[in-house]
Amino acid sequence: MKNLCRKNTIYDAAIIGAGPAGASLAYFLSGSGLKVVLIEKKKVADIPVRCAELVPRAITQLYNDKISGINNEINNMETYIRGELANTIKSDGFILDRSIFVDFLIREHIRKNGAYVNSANFLNAEYLSCQDQGIRTRPGRNLKNPYDKTGSAKNKTIKISVYSDKNKEVINIKTKILVGADGTNSKVSRIMNSFFSENNDSYKKSYNAIPKGIQSDNAYIVAFQENLMRKKDYGNNAKIFFYPYLTCGYGWLFPKKESINVGLAINPETVKRNGLKNTYFRFKNDLVKNDIINGDEKQNSVVSGLAPVSGISSELVKSNIMIIGDAAGLCNPITGAGNFNAAVSAKIASEYIKKAISTGDSDILKEAGKEINNFFNISLSRAKNKRVILEEGWSGDNFEDLIKKTWISFKDYWQRGKVKSC
Ligand SMILES: Cc1cc2nc3c(=O)[nH]c(=O)nc-3n(C[C@H](O)[C@H](O)[C@H](O)COP(=O)(O)OP(=O)(O)OC[C@H]3O[C@@H](n4cnc5c(N)ncnc54)[C@H](O)[C@@H]3O)c2cc1C
Repeated sequence: MKNLCRKNTIYDAAIIGAGPAGASLAYFLSGSGLKVVLIEKKKVADIPVRCAELVPRAITQLYNDKISGINNEINNMETYIRGELANTIKSDGFILDRSIFVDFLIREHIRKNGAYVNSANFLNAEYLSCQDQGIRTRPGRNLKNPYDKTGSAKNKTIKISVYSDKNKEVINIKTKILVGADGTNSKVSRIMNSFFSENNDSYKKSYNAIPKGIQSDNAYIVAFQENLMRKKDYGNNAKIFFYPYLTCGYGWLFPKKESINVGLAINPETVKRNGLKNTYFRFKNDLVKNDIINGDEKQNSVVSGLAPVSGISSELVKSNIMIIGDAAGLCNPITGAGNFNAAVSAKIASEYIKKAISTGDSDILKEAGKEINNFFNISLSRAKNKRVILEEGWSGDNFEDLIKKTWISFKDYWQRGKVKSC
Protein backbone atom coordinates (compact mmCIF):
# COMPACT_ATOMS: atom_id res chain seq x y z
CA MET A 1 0.00 0.00 0.00
CA LYS A 2 1.12 3.53 -0.75
CA ASN A 3 2.60 5.77 1.92
CA LEU A 4 0.81 9.07 1.48
CA CYS A 5 1.91 10.90 4.63
CA ARG A 6 2.96 14.51 3.96
CA LYS A 7 5.36 15.94 6.50
CA ASN A 8 4.21 19.57 6.33
CA THR A 9 0.49 18.92 6.55
CA ILE A 10 -1.45 19.58 9.75
CA TYR A 11 -3.77 16.60 9.87
CA ASP A 12 -7.28 16.85 11.28
CA ALA A 13 -6.86 13.44 12.90
CA ALA A 14 -3.95 11.06 13.42
CA ILE A 15 -4.98 7.52 14.32
CA ILE A 16 -2.44 5.24 16.00
CA GLY A 17 -3.00 1.55 15.19
CA ALA A 18 -4.63 -0.05 12.16
CA GLY A 19 -6.44 -2.90 13.91
CA PRO A 20 -10.23 -3.18 13.72
CA ALA A 21 -10.70 0.05 15.75
CA GLY A 22 -8.20 2.30 13.95
CA ALA A 23 -8.84 0.95 10.44
CA SER A 24 -12.61 1.32 11.02
CA LEU A 25 -12.20 4.89 12.21
CA ALA A 26 -10.12 5.74 9.13
CA TYR A 27 -12.81 4.08 6.98
CA PHE A 28 -15.66 5.98 8.65
CA LEU A 29 -13.81 9.29 8.23
CA SER A 30 -12.86 8.60 4.63
CA GLY A 31 -14.64 10.73 2.05
CA SER A 32 -15.52 13.37 4.67
CA GLY A 33 -12.92 15.83 3.39
CA LEU A 34 -10.94 15.58 6.62
CA LYS A 35 -7.18 15.08 6.47
CA VAL A 36 -6.61 11.79 8.25
CA VAL A 37 -3.40 9.81 8.76
CA LEU A 38 -3.45 6.20 9.93
CA ILE A 39 -0.23 4.93 11.53
CA GLU A 40 0.58 1.23 12.02
CA LYS A 41 3.71 -0.32 13.44
CA LYS A 42 3.35 -3.64 11.61
CA LYS A 43 4.59 -4.06 8.07
CA VAL A 44 1.24 -5.53 7.03
CA ALA A 45 -1.68 -4.49 9.22
CA ASP A 46 -3.32 -7.29 11.21
CA ILE A 47 -0.83 -9.96 10.19
CA PRO A 48 -0.47 -12.12 12.20
CA VAL A 49 -4.12 -11.98 13.29
CA ARG A 50 -4.31 -12.22 17.07
CA CYS A 51 -7.98 -13.08 17.15
CA ALA A 52 -10.39 -16.03 16.96
CA GLU A 53 -12.39 -13.91 14.48
CA LEU A 54 -15.92 -14.49 15.79
CA VAL A 55 -18.14 -11.40 15.47
CA PRO A 56 -21.87 -10.76 15.89
CA ARG A 57 -23.79 -10.57 12.63
CA ALA A 58 -24.79 -6.96 13.39
CA ILE A 59 -21.24 -5.78 12.69
CA THR A 60 -21.93 -5.49 8.95
CA GLN A 61 -24.60 -2.84 9.56
CA LEU A 62 -21.95 -0.43 10.81
CA TYR A 63 -20.39 -0.54 7.34
CA ASN A 64 -23.70 -0.47 5.40
CA ASP A 65 -23.25 -4.20 4.70
CA LYS A 66 -20.24 -3.52 2.53
CA ILE A 67 -17.43 -5.37 4.30
CA SER A 68 -14.91 -7.86 2.96
CA GLY A 69 -13.53 -10.85 4.81
CA ILE A 70 -16.58 -12.83 5.93
CA ASN A 71 -15.43 -16.46 5.91
CA ASN A 72 -18.25 -18.41 7.55
CA GLU A 73 -21.64 -18.04 9.19
CA ILE A 74 -22.28 -19.02 12.79
CA ASN A 75 -25.79 -19.90 13.96
CA ASN A 76 -25.28 -21.50 17.38
CA MET A 77 -22.98 -21.51 20.38
CA GLU A 78 -22.35 -24.83 22.16
CA THR A 79 -20.93 -24.66 25.69
CA TYR A 80 -19.07 -27.67 27.14
CA ILE A 81 -18.18 -28.02 30.81
CA ARG A 82 -15.50 -30.63 31.57
CA GLY A 83 -16.05 -32.10 28.09
CA GLU A 84 -19.85 -32.51 28.46
CA LEU A 85 -22.20 -30.45 26.29
CA ALA A 86 -24.01 -28.19 28.80
CA ASN A 87 -26.15 -26.17 26.40
CA THR A 88 -26.63 -24.92 22.85
CA ILE A 89 -28.02 -21.46 22.19
CA LYS A 90 -28.84 -19.53 19.05
CA SER A 91 -26.06 -17.12 18.30
CA ASP A 92 -25.90 -15.33 14.97
CA GLY A 93 -22.48 -14.31 13.86
CA PHE A 94 -19.68 -14.59 11.37
CA ILE A 95 -16.16 -15.90 11.44
CA LEU A 96 -14.04 -13.35 9.66
CA ASP A 97 -10.81 -13.54 7.78
CA ARG A 98 -9.93 -10.53 9.88
CA SER A 99 -6.81 -9.48 8.02
CA ILE A 100 -8.88 -9.29 4.82
CA PHE A 101 -11.50 -7.23 6.64
CA VAL A 102 -8.88 -4.80 8.00
CA ASP A 103 -7.09 -4.62 4.64
CA PHE A 104 -10.39 -3.68 2.97
CA LEU A 105 -10.95 -0.81 5.43
CA ILE A 106 -7.43 0.56 4.93
CA ARG A 107 -7.70 0.33 1.14
CA GLU A 108 -10.97 2.29 1.19
CA HIS A 109 -9.32 4.94 3.41
CA ILE A 110 -6.41 5.25 0.95
CA ARG A 111 -8.72 5.20 -2.09
CA LYS A 112 -10.44 8.28 -0.67
CA ASN A 113 -7.13 10.10 -0.22
CA GLY A 114 -6.43 9.10 3.37
CA ALA A 115 -2.78 8.85 4.41
CA TYR A 116 -1.42 5.54 5.66
CA VAL A 117 2.00 4.90 7.18
CA ASN A 118 2.93 1.31 7.97
CA SER A 119 6.09 -0.04 9.69
CA ALA A 120 5.85 3.11 11.80
CA ASN A 121 6.01 2.90 15.58
CA PHE A 122 4.30 5.74 17.44
CA LEU A 123 6.80 6.95 20.05
CA ASN A 124 5.55 10.10 21.69
CA ALA A 125 3.29 13.12 21.55
CA GLU A 126 3.59 16.67 22.75
CA TYR A 127 1.57 19.81 22.41
CA LEU A 128 3.17 22.43 20.21
CA SER A 129 4.26 25.39 22.25
CA CYS A 130 2.23 28.59 21.93
CA GLN A 131 5.15 30.16 20.14
CA ASP A 132 5.12 27.39 17.51
CA GLN A 133 1.42 28.02 17.01
CA GLY A 134 1.88 31.76 16.63
CA ILE A 135 0.27 32.53 20.00
CA ARG A 136 1.98 35.11 22.27
CA THR A 137 2.43 34.08 25.88
CA ARG A 138 4.03 35.56 28.95
CA PRO A 139 7.76 34.75 28.93
CA GLY A 140 8.80 31.68 30.89
CA ARG A 141 5.40 30.02 30.73
CA ASN A 142 5.84 26.42 29.65
CA LEU A 143 2.93 25.13 27.62
CA LYS A 144 4.60 22.02 26.26
CA ASN A 145 2.13 19.97 28.21
CA PRO A 146 -1.28 21.58 28.10
CA TYR A 147 -2.50 21.00 31.61
CA ASP A 148 -3.87 24.24 32.96
CA LYS A 149 -6.45 25.18 35.59
CA THR A 150 -9.33 23.97 33.44
CA GLY A 151 -7.49 20.83 32.28
CA SER A 152 -8.07 21.87 28.71
CA ALA A 153 -5.80 21.81 25.72
CA LYS A 154 -8.64 22.91 23.51
CA ASN A 155 -7.70 23.22 19.86
CA LYS A 156 -3.97 23.01 20.51
CA THR A 157 -1.95 21.25 17.83
CA ILE A 158 -0.27 18.00 18.79
CA LYS A 159 3.07 16.94 17.40
CA ILE A 160 3.57 13.19 17.32
CA SER A 161 6.80 11.37 16.65
CA VAL A 162 6.86 8.07 14.86
CA TYR A 163 9.82 5.81 14.08
CA SER A 164 9.68 4.68 10.47
CA ASP A 165 11.29 1.29 10.09
CA LYS A 166 11.43 1.69 6.32
CA ASN A 167 13.32 4.99 6.35
CA LYS A 168 15.14 4.32 9.65
CA GLU A 169 14.21 7.79 10.90
CA VAL A 170 11.87 9.58 13.25
CA ILE A 171 9.05 11.40 11.44
CA ASN A 172 7.15 14.24 13.11
CA ILE A 173 3.48 14.63 12.24
CA LYS A 174 1.18 17.48 13.31
CA THR A 175 -2.45 16.86 14.07
CA LYS A 176 -5.48 18.59 15.57
CA ILE A 177 -6.85 15.37 17.10
CA LEU A 178 -4.95 12.27 18.24
CA VAL A 179 -6.74 8.92 18.52
CA GLY A 180 -5.23 5.91 20.27
CA ALA A 181 -6.44 2.71 18.61
CA ASP A 182 -3.23 0.99 19.62
CA GLY A 183 -4.74 -1.93 21.52
CA THR A 184 -3.95 -3.42 24.94
CA ASN A 185 -1.32 -1.43 26.89
CA SER A 186 -2.00 1.59 24.71
CA LYS A 187 0.87 4.06 24.62
CA VAL A 188 -1.51 6.85 23.60
CA SER A 189 -3.62 6.17 26.69
CA ARG A 190 -0.56 6.38 28.94
CA ILE A 191 0.61 9.62 27.35
CA MET A 192 -2.89 11.11 27.50
CA ASN A 193 -3.14 10.31 31.21
CA SER A 194 0.33 11.66 31.94
CA PHE A 195 -0.59 14.99 30.32
CA PHE A 196 -3.73 15.44 32.36
CA SER A 197 -3.27 13.53 35.61
CA GLU A 198 -2.35 16.36 38.03
CA ASN A 199 -5.14 17.43 40.40
CA ASN A 200 -7.62 15.35 38.47
CA ASP A 201 -9.87 13.88 41.15
CA SER A 202 -12.36 12.20 38.85
CA TYR A 203 -9.58 10.09 37.38
CA LYS A 204 -8.42 9.00 40.84
CA LYS A 205 -11.94 8.20 41.94
CA SER A 206 -12.67 5.88 39.06
CA TYR A 207 -9.27 4.21 39.44
CA ASN A 208 -10.10 3.36 43.06
CA ALA A 209 -13.51 2.04 42.03
CA ILE A 210 -11.99 -1.04 40.37
CA PRO A 211 -13.58 -4.00 42.10
CA LYS A 212 -11.52 -6.26 44.28
CA GLY A 213 -10.41 -9.35 42.35
CA ILE A 214 -9.34 -7.59 39.20
CA GLN A 215 -5.96 -6.45 40.30
CA SER A 216 -5.30 -3.41 38.18
CA ASP A 217 -6.51 -1.08 35.50
CA ASN A 218 -4.42 -3.09 33.06
CA ALA A 219 -5.64 -6.59 33.92
CA TYR A 220 -5.65 -9.00 30.99
CA ILE A 221 -5.97 -12.67 30.08
CA VAL A 222 -3.42 -14.46 27.94
CA ALA A 223 -4.48 -16.23 24.76
CA PHE A 224 -2.93 -18.88 22.53
CA GLN A 225 -4.43 -20.10 19.29
CA GLU A 226 -3.73 -22.43 16.39
CA ASN A 227 -5.40 -22.28 13.00
CA LEU A 228 -5.68 -25.90 11.84
CA MET A 229 -6.94 -27.49 8.63
CA ARG A 230 -10.49 -28.67 9.17
CA LYS A 231 -11.03 -32.44 9.11
CA LYS A 232 -14.55 -32.71 10.54
CA ASP A 233 -17.87 -31.07 9.86
CA TYR A 234 -18.68 -28.61 12.66
CA GLY A 235 -21.84 -27.23 11.06
CA ASN A 236 -22.21 -23.56 11.86
CA ASN A 237 -21.58 -23.96 15.56
CA ALA A 238 -19.05 -22.09 17.67
CA LYS A 239 -17.83 -24.27 20.57
CA ILE A 240 -16.76 -23.01 24.00
CA PHE A 241 -15.01 -25.25 26.56
CA PHE A 242 -14.57 -24.87 30.30
CA TYR A 243 -12.09 -26.97 32.30
CA PRO A 244 -10.83 -26.16 35.81
CA TYR A 245 -7.24 -25.97 34.51
CA LEU A 246 -8.21 -23.18 32.04
CA THR A 247 -8.05 -20.82 34.99
CA CYS A 248 -10.53 -17.92 34.87
CA GLY A 249 -10.87 -18.41 31.12
CA TYR A 250 -12.01 -20.87 28.49
CA GLY A 251 -11.12 -22.68 25.28
CA TRP A 252 -12.78 -22.37 21.89
CA LEU A 253 -13.20 -23.98 18.50
CA PHE A 254 -14.53 -21.67 15.80
CA PRO A 255 -15.06 -23.27 12.38
CA LYS A 256 -14.02 -21.46 9.22
CA LYS A 257 -14.86 -22.91 5.80
CA GLU A 258 -11.61 -24.85 5.42
CA SER A 259 -9.92 -24.47 8.77
CA ILE A 260 -10.64 -24.10 12.49
CA ASN A 261 -9.46 -21.61 15.09
CA VAL A 262 -8.68 -23.56 18.26
CA GLY A 263 -7.44 -21.65 21.26
CA LEU A 264 -7.68 -20.65 24.87
CA ALA A 265 -7.44 -17.59 27.07
CA ILE A 266 -6.40 -17.93 30.73
CA ASN A 267 -5.25 -16.04 33.77
CA PRO A 268 -1.58 -14.85 33.58
CA GLU A 269 -0.86 -16.53 36.95
CA THR A 270 -1.58 -19.94 35.42
CA VAL A 271 0.63 -19.10 32.47
CA LYS A 272 3.49 -18.42 34.91
CA ARG A 273 2.81 -21.64 36.81
CA ASN A 274 1.97 -24.13 34.05
CA GLY A 275 3.08 -22.47 30.80
CA LEU A 276 0.82 -21.28 28.00
CA LYS A 277 1.75 -23.93 25.44
CA ASN A 278 1.61 -26.77 27.99
CA THR A 279 -1.89 -25.71 29.01
CA TYR A 280 -2.90 -25.46 25.36
CA PHE A 281 -1.62 -28.97 24.57
CA ARG A 282 -3.44 -30.36 27.57
CA PHE A 283 -6.61 -28.72 26.25
CA LYS A 284 -5.98 -30.05 22.74
CA ASN A 285 -5.54 -33.58 24.13
CA ASP A 286 -8.90 -33.25 25.85
CA LEU A 287 -10.49 -32.22 22.53
CA VAL A 288 -9.00 -35.34 20.93
CA LYS A 289 -10.19 -37.55 23.83
CA ASN A 290 -13.71 -36.17 23.42
CA ASP A 291 -13.58 -36.75 19.65
CA ILE A 292 -13.96 -33.03 18.89
CA ILE A 293 -10.81 -32.94 16.74
CA ASN A 294 -8.61 -35.71 15.34
CA GLY A 295 -5.37 -34.29 16.69
CA ASP A 296 -3.44 -34.72 13.43
CA GLU A 297 -4.89 -31.61 11.71
CA LYS A 298 -2.22 -29.68 9.81
CA GLN A 299 -1.24 -26.39 11.48
CA ASN A 300 -1.55 -23.25 9.32
CA SER A 301 -0.57 -20.68 11.92
CA VAL A 302 -0.13 -20.08 15.62
CA VAL A 303 -0.49 -16.86 17.63
CA SER A 304 -0.54 -15.67 21.20
CA GLY A 305 -1.89 -12.38 22.54
CA LEU A 306 -3.52 -10.47 25.36
CA ALA A 307 -7.17 -9.52 25.90
CA PRO A 308 -7.89 -6.70 28.39
CA VAL A 309 -10.40 -7.65 31.10
CA SER A 310 -10.56 -4.61 33.36
CA GLY A 311 -13.42 -2.92 31.54
CA ILE A 312 -13.83 0.55 30.11
CA SER A 313 -11.03 2.98 30.90
CA SER A 314 -11.95 5.69 33.36
CA GLU A 315 -11.72 8.43 30.74
CA LEU A 316 -11.82 7.98 26.99
CA VAL A 317 -11.29 11.59 25.98
CA LYS A 318 -9.08 14.33 27.35
CA SER A 319 -9.16 17.53 25.35
CA ASN A 320 -8.20 16.59 21.80
CA ILE A 321 -6.83 13.11 22.57
CA MET A 322 -9.08 10.05 22.69
CA ILE A 323 -8.85 6.26 22.87
CA ILE A 324 -11.04 3.62 21.25
CA GLY A 325 -11.23 -0.19 20.96
CA ASP A 326 -8.98 -2.29 23.20
CA ALA A 327 -6.94 0.82 24.01
CA ALA A 328 -10.07 2.08 25.79
CA GLY A 329 -10.68 -1.29 27.52
CA LEU A 330 -13.75 -2.06 25.44
CA CYS A 331 -12.98 -5.78 25.21
CA ASN A 332 -15.57 -7.81 27.12
CA PRO A 333 -14.03 -8.95 30.47
CA ILE A 334 -15.86 -12.31 30.30
CA THR A 335 -15.87 -13.31 26.62
CA GLY A 336 -12.74 -11.42 25.52
CA ALA A 337 -14.72 -10.25 22.46
CA GLY A 338 -13.70 -6.82 21.26
CA ASN A 339 -14.04 -6.55 17.49
CA PHE A 340 -17.62 -5.31 17.44
CA ASN A 341 -16.94 -2.95 20.35
CA ALA A 342 -13.88 -1.60 18.55
CA ALA A 343 -15.98 -0.94 15.45
CA VAL A 344 -18.82 0.73 17.39
CA SER A 345 -16.41 2.99 19.27
CA ALA A 346 -14.81 3.95 15.94
CA LYS A 347 -18.21 4.75 14.45
CA ILE A 348 -19.17 7.00 17.38
CA ALA A 349 -15.71 8.66 17.42
CA SER A 350 -15.95 9.40 13.68
CA GLU A 351 -19.20 11.34 14.09
CA TYR A 352 -17.78 13.58 16.83
CA ILE A 353 -14.42 14.08 15.11
CA LYS A 354 -16.29 15.39 12.04
CA LYS A 355 -18.27 17.78 14.27
CA ALA A 356 -15.17 18.91 16.21
CA ILE A 357 -13.30 19.73 13.01
CA SER A 358 -16.22 21.42 11.27
CA THR A 359 -16.97 23.64 14.29
CA GLY A 360 -13.34 24.14 15.29
CA ASP A 361 -14.20 23.08 18.84
CA SER A 362 -12.30 20.04 20.08
CA ASP A 363 -14.32 20.03 23.33
CA ILE A 364 -17.10 18.32 21.33
CA LEU A 365 -15.04 15.13 21.56
CA LYS A 366 -16.07 14.79 25.21
CA GLU A 367 -19.53 13.88 23.92
CA ALA A 368 -18.00 10.96 22.03
CA GLY A 369 -16.55 9.68 25.31
CA LYS A 370 -19.95 9.95 26.99
CA GLU A 371 -21.74 8.20 24.13
CA ILE A 372 -19.25 5.32 24.01
CA ASN A 373 -19.61 4.97 27.78
CA ASN A 374 -23.40 4.97 27.60
CA PHE A 375 -23.35 2.40 24.83
CA PHE A 376 -21.13 -0.09 26.66
CA ASN A 377 -21.53 0.67 30.34
CA ILE A 378 -24.29 -1.86 31.10
CA SER A 379 -22.88 -4.80 29.16
CA LEU A 380 -19.26 -4.28 30.16
CA SER A 381 -20.09 -3.53 33.80
CA ARG A 382 -22.09 -6.75 33.97
CA ALA A 383 -19.19 -8.66 32.43
CA LYS A 384 -16.70 -7.05 34.80
CA ASN A 385 -18.81 -7.92 37.83
CA LYS A 386 -19.13 -11.49 36.55
CA ARG A 387 -15.37 -11.61 36.12
CA VAL A 388 -14.91 -10.69 39.79
CA ILE A 389 -17.26 -13.57 40.73
CA LEU A 390 -15.38 -15.89 38.35
CA GLU A 391 -11.95 -15.02 39.75
CA GLU A 392 -13.06 -15.23 43.39
CA GLY A 393 -14.93 -18.52 42.89
CA TRP A 394 -12.61 -20.37 40.52
CA SER A 395 -10.91 -22.56 43.11
CA GLY A 396 -14.20 -23.25 44.94
CA ASP A 397 -16.12 -26.55 44.95
CA ASN A 398 -18.93 -26.02 42.49
CA PHE A 399 -17.34 -25.49 39.11
CA GLU A 400 -20.51 -26.13 37.06
CA ASP A 401 -22.53 -23.62 39.07
CA LEU A 402 -19.81 -20.99 38.78
CA ILE A 403 -19.69 -21.34 34.98
CA LYS A 404 -23.47 -21.18 34.77
CA LYS A 405 -23.46 -17.96 36.77
CA THR A 406 -20.71 -16.32 34.76
CA TRP A 407 -20.94 -17.45 31.15
CA ILE A 408 -23.16 -15.70 28.61
CA SER A 409 -24.95 -18.79 27.27
CA PHE A 410 -26.66 -19.43 30.62
CA LYS A 411 -29.77 -17.68 31.95
CA ASP A 412 -28.09 -16.89 35.27
CA TYR A 413 -25.63 -14.59 33.54
CA TRP A 414 -28.46 -12.39 32.35
CA GLN A 415 -30.51 -12.54 35.53
CA ARG A 416 -31.90 -9.16 36.37
CA GLY A 417 -30.52 -7.41 39.35
CA LYS A 418 -28.57 -4.31 39.90
CA VAL A 419 -25.47 -4.15 37.78
CA LYS A 420 -22.80 -2.30 39.69
CA SER A 421 -21.41 0.36 37.41
CA CYS A 422 -17.63 0.12 37.08
C1 LIG B 1 -6.19 -14.73 20.77
C2 LIG B 1 -7.33 -13.75 20.80
C3 LIG B 1 -8.56 -14.13 20.33
C4 LIG B 1 -9.61 -13.20 20.27
N1 LIG B 1 -10.79 -13.60 19.72
C5 LIG B 1 -11.77 -12.71 19.55
C6 LIG B 1 -12.98 -13.08 18.88
O1 LIG B 1 -13.17 -14.22 18.46
N2 LIG B 1 -13.93 -12.12 18.70
C7 LIG B 1 -13.75 -10.83 19.14
O2 LIG B 1 -14.65 -10.01 18.94
N3 LIG B 1 -12.63 -10.47 19.77
C8 LIG B 1 -11.63 -11.36 19.97
N4 LIG B 1 -10.47 -10.98 20.58
C9 LIG B 1 -10.31 -9.56 20.95
C10 LIG B 1 -10.07 -8.72 19.69
O3 LIG B 1 -9.03 -9.29 18.93
C11 LIG B 1 -9.71 -7.30 20.10
O4 LIG B 1 -10.71 -6.80 20.95
C12 LIG B 1 -9.58 -6.41 18.87
O5 LIG B 1 -8.46 -6.81 18.13
C13 LIG B 1 -9.45 -4.96 19.30
O6 LIG B 1 -9.16 -4.19 18.16
P1 LIG B 1 -8.26 -2.88 18.31
O7 LIG B 1 -8.14 -2.33 16.93
O8 LIG B 1 -8.78 -2.04 19.38
O9 LIG B 1 -6.85 -3.40 18.82
P2 LIG B 1 -5.78 -4.31 18.09
O10 LIG B 1 -6.42 -5.33 17.24
O11 LIG B 1 -4.84 -4.78 19.15
O12 LIG B 1 -5.02 -3.31 17.13
C14 LIG B 1 -4.09 -2.38 17.61
C15 LIG B 1 -3.17 -2.01 16.47
O13 LIG B 1 -2.30 -0.97 16.91
C16 LIG B 1 -1.00 -1.25 16.48
N5 LIG B 1 -0.08 -0.56 17.40
C17 LIG B 1 0.13 -0.82 18.72
N6 LIG B 1 1.06 0.03 19.22
C18 LIG B 1 1.45 0.84 18.19
C19 LIG B 1 2.38 1.89 18.08
N7 LIG B 1 3.13 2.29 19.13
N8 LIG B 1 2.52 2.50 16.88
C20 LIG B 1 1.79 2.12 15.81
N9 LIG B 1 0.88 1.11 15.86
C21 LIG B 1 0.72 0.48 17.03
C22 LIG B 1 -0.89 -2.78 16.56
O14 LIG B 1 0.16 -3.26 15.73
C23 LIG B 1 -2.26 -3.18 16.05
O15 LIG B 1 -2.31 -3.31 14.66
C24 LIG B 1 -9.41 -11.89 20.71
C25 LIG B 1 -8.18 -11.50 21.24
C26 LIG B 1 -7.14 -12.42 21.29
C27 LIG B 1 -5.82 -11.98 21.84
